Amino acid sequence: MKEVLLKVENAKAYYKLEKASVRAVDDVSFEIFEDEVVGVVGESGCGKTTLSNLIFMNMLKPLTLVEGKVLFKINGKFEQISSLPREEVKKRFWGTQITMVPQSAMNALMPTIRMSKYIEHLAQSHEIDVRDLLEKAKERFNEVGLDPLWLRRYPFELSGGMRQRAVIAIATILNPKLLIADEPTSALDVVNQKVFLKVLMQLKKMSVVRSIVFITHDIATIRQIADRMIVMYAGKIVEFSDMERMLVRPLHPYAQGLFNSVLTPEPEIRKREISVIPGTPPNLINPPGGCRFHPRCPHVMEICKEKEPPLEEIEEGRKVACFLYSEGKL
Ligand code: SF4
Repeated sequence: MKEVLLKVENAKAYYKLEKASVRAVDDVSFEIFEDEVVGVVGESGCGKTTLSNLIFMNMLKPLTLVEGKVLFKINGKFEQISSLPREEVKKRFWGTQITMVPQSAMNALMPTIRMSKYIEHLAQSHEIDVRDLLEKAKERFNEVGLDPLWLRRYPFELSGGMRQRAVIAIATILNPKLLIADEPTSALDVVNQKVFLKVLMQLKKMSVVRSIVFITHDIATIRQIADRMIVMYAGKIVEFSDMERMLVRPLHPYAQGLFNSVLTPEPEIRKREISVIPGTPPNLINPPGGCRFHPRCPHVMEICKEKEPPLEEIEEGRKVACFLYSEGKL
């Protein structure tokens, strides 16, 4: 039986603007187990990055948790991190329990600050001996395939792939339980993508991190490493399943469209024809009523325009939000 590490319950994370709200994550519930990799996929603007900020509790205005909870297990007990002040979350959770590699992380390093300075800042903010942490940083640099001497260098002296590995080395220096990686490979070439994935899985194998949430729009990448997958559409989770069943037979019409629009090496998947999903995702200030996918869905029914389909478990460990299943049609 897998232990739950993080729970998100009925969370609504909106960008509250002066006259309207962008409902980027709208009533989502899920859990992340210890020792697993969960991929989060969906088109641009579906709420993936907001979801990563929600899990990390990086709620900077105008992003606001309107409803719901985020709970993280610490010392065997769940703590509601969403009710804690940001400074407390930062001090007690960031770096040691949860860490995040944000989008374009390799560009987040200031070109004029030596890599070792980041380690010194981290040691000061966690009240750890700087020399001890610098020693640990040398080991971690080695583990991600970087010469520890690079710690004395400036980020602009490293290639893009090396900078990305330096970012993950720094982000995991305090052995956090959960790593959230938001599109970490999208700016890398194919060779560096492979190296980065290898490093990531190596860190997990060594128990430097226990669980990983990997956010991407690239199914070909995530299928190589994920145990389970969340498919998001217009701020909602529309399917959550183990990777194997999802790859062979996605159930939600949007997930089917998404999977049928990429090339994969599996023969059973290759048999399906490549297709595109017609239309564009909705504006999240005023999304369509009922099922948010209904204007683009090839199976739309009357009920889909009126009611919102709940995310329901239709097979063990497999949840789908679609009336084709909950109404007993298949
Ligand atoms: Fe399509 Fe209806 Fe299912 Fe939505 S609920 S995905 S519109 S069939």
